[in-house]
Amino acid sequence: MCGIVGYLGNGNAYDVLIKGLHRLEYRGYDSAGIALVAPGGKLNVFKAKGKVENLETICNDKDTDASVGIAHTRWATHGEPSDCNAHPHYSEDGNLALVHNGTIENYKLLKDALEEHGCKFHSETDTEVLVQLIEYIKINNKCSLLEAVREALHQVVGAYAIAVVEKNDPDTIIAARQSSPLVIGIGDDETFLASDASPFVEYTKDAVYLNDGEIAVIRRNEPLKVLNLENRESKIDVKTLEMSISQLEKGGYPSFMLKEIFEQPTTLRECIRGRVVENGQRVIISGVRDHKEKFLNAKRIVIVACGTSWHAALIGKYLIQEMCHIAVEVEYASEFRYSNPVLGKDDIVIALSQSGETADTIAAVKIARSMGAFVFGISNAVGSSIPRETDSGAYIHVGPEIGVASTKAFTGQVMVLTMIAMAIADLRGTLTADEIAGLGKVILKMPELVEHVLKLNDKIERLSLIYTYARNFLYLGRGYNYPVALEGALKLKEISYIHAEGYPAAEMKHGPIALIDAEMPSVIVAPRDHLYEKIVSNVQQVKARGGSIIAIVTEGDSVIRNIADHVLEVPEVPECLSPIITSIPLQLLSYYIAINKGKDVDMPRNLAKSVTVE
Ligand code: GLU
Repeated sequence: MCGIVGYLGNGNAYDVLIKGLHRLEYRGYDSAGIALVAPGGKLNVFKAKGKVENLETICNDKDTDASVGIAHTRWATHGEPSDCNAHPHYSEDGNLALVHNGTIENYKLLKDALEEHGCKFHSETDTEVLVQLIEYIKINNKCSLLEAVREALHQVVGAYAIAVVEKNDPDTIIAARQSSPLVIGIGDDETFLASDASPFVEYTKDAVYLNDGEIAVIRRNEPLKVLNLENRESKIDVKTLEMSISQLEKGGYPSFMLKEIFEQPTTLRECIRGRVVENGQRVIISGVRDHKEKFLNAKRIVIVACGTSWHAALIGKYLIQEMCHIAVEVEYASEFRYSNPVLGKDDIVIALSQSGETADTIAAVKIARSMGAFVFGISNAVGSSIPRETDSGAYIHVGPEIGVASTKAFTGQVMVLTMIAMAIADLRGTLTADEIAGLGKVILKMPELVEHVLKLNDKIERLSLIYTYARNFLYLGRGYNYPVALEGALKLKEISYIHAEGYPAAEMKHGPIALIDAEMPSVIVAPRDHLYEKIVSNVQQVKARGGSIIAIVTEGDSVIRNIADHVLEVPEVPECLSPIITSIPLQLLSYYIAINKGKDVDMPRNLAKSVTVE
C-alpha cells in the first residue's frame, strides 16, 4: 500500500513532504524516507525504520534545504521493514531517487538481468529494480529521464505509482501510475503529487487524477504535462477537491478512530442527504435511477469486496434479497478474480471499497466489465479508481477515514446499500410506497438514534476493563446481525490483537461451542427481530457451558437481560436497519479494550488502510 508524496515549488520541500507523510501514514508505517534535490546538484536521501516521527528525528541535524523532493511511507511487500529496504531507493551511481507504491511482479527477472550487467543491489525490495533499470536505460540510451522512465515502464509487469527525481535537475519530477493511485495537486507556482489528495489539500483544491498507463511531467515554471506510455499527450482534467483540512485532523479527540466513531451521526446525515427526500417518502439514488433498465432486468447481483467492506456487502445481500427479491452473491474480491466467474449482461456486479483503490476489488471490476456485466461502484474517495472504472455508482460521503480500522465508512456503506436496495425495490415494485415511506422516515431519524447509542460510551469503557485481558472472544449474531458479529470480531482483532471469531449464532453448535468456558467471553448481537427467540436459545447454550456473555439487545429487553452477564441496550429500529445501530457498541468495545492494552488504535501493527497491492 505505501504512501508517496512529492513537491516542486518555491517553498520548503522538507516541511511539505513530512506533513504529507503524516497524512499518508494510515497507508503504511513500516518505514519512512525522503529524497531532497538540494541546490548545487546534491541528492540527500534520509530513511528510517518505523513511523514518520523516526525519520523526523534523524533529519533533525541534517541539511534538509530544498525546494523539490519526494517521500514515502512504507507497507512492506518485498523485504522486511528496515532502514535499508525503506524508500526512496537510489540508483547505483546515486544519480536518481525513486519512491514506489505497488509491487513489481517480474522484478526477479529484471534484477537478474541487471546484475549480469554489473549492477549491484542494496535492498531486498522489488522497487530497487525500477530505479536501477531507469538509470541503466538512461546511461545506455543516452536519453532523458522521461524517456528512460517510459522505456523502463514498458518492461515492467505489476502495479506502481512512482515518482523519480534526478540529482542534477532540481526542476523536474517524473511520476507515473499503473493500478496504484496517484493524484497531482496544482498550486500557484508549485506542484504536489501524492497517493491521495490529503497531503496538499491545504495548499490547493485543484487536482488531476492520473489514469493507468500515464506519466506526469512536473517541471518548474511549466504547466503540468501528462503523456501515455506511447508518448501521446493526454488532456488534463482538473477536478476541484471537496475535502477540507479539518476533516484530516483529530478535532480534540485522542485518536482518529474515536473521532470517526463519534462522527457517525454527522456522516450518516451526509450520506442520506438528498437521497431520502420528501419527508422519507422517496429514495433517490441517481446511479440506480439513471440505469433503470439494468436494475429492472437484473437476474442476479454479485457484490465483491474485501475486509470490512465484505461485511457490509453481506448485509447488502440480506437487504437486496429481502427488498428486491433478486438473488445476491457476496464474494471476496481476491477470490472472485481467480474463480473463473460466470457473468453475463443480466448480472450486476457491485464493487464495494472505502478507498476506491483496493487492488483486488479493482481487478474484480475489470473482469466483470470484460464479461459484459453492469458494474456499480460504491466508495468513499471521490475520483478514486473504482468510481472511474465502473458503469455507475454511489459515494458514501462520510469524509476521509483516517483510522485504519474502519468505523464510519462501514455504517456509511450499509446505509448506502440500504438506500440502493430501496431504490431498486421501488423500481421493481417489490416494496410498496407505504413500505418505502415507513423505512424512509426511520432512515431520516438514524443520525439521532446513533447519537443516542453513542451515550453508551461510558458504560462500554467501564465494561471493557473486565474483558481487557481475555485471550479469545466469540462474536455471534443471526440474520442481519450475523455480519455485524463478523465485523465486531474483526475490529477487536485489528486493534487489540486479541483473537476473535465471528460466527452465525446457530452454527456455533457445529464447532465453536467446544471452545466455550469461563475464559472465553461471547459477544452476542441479539436485538428483537424475527430470529429473537432462536438467538435466546443460543444465548442459553453459551450460558449453560459457563461462558460469560455481553449481549447487544433492544431497549426494554427482559429475557436476555436475565441470562447475559452484561447487556448493552440499543433503540428499536426495523430489522433491516439494525446493523447500523448494533455495530456501534462493538466499535466502542474494541476501541476501549485496545486502549486499555496500550495499543495504537489508529495504526495497528502490520495493517494499512487501503490495500492497493495484491
Ligand atoms: N513493494 C514495495 C516494497 O515492499 C512497495 C510496497 C507497497 O506499495 O505496498 O517496498
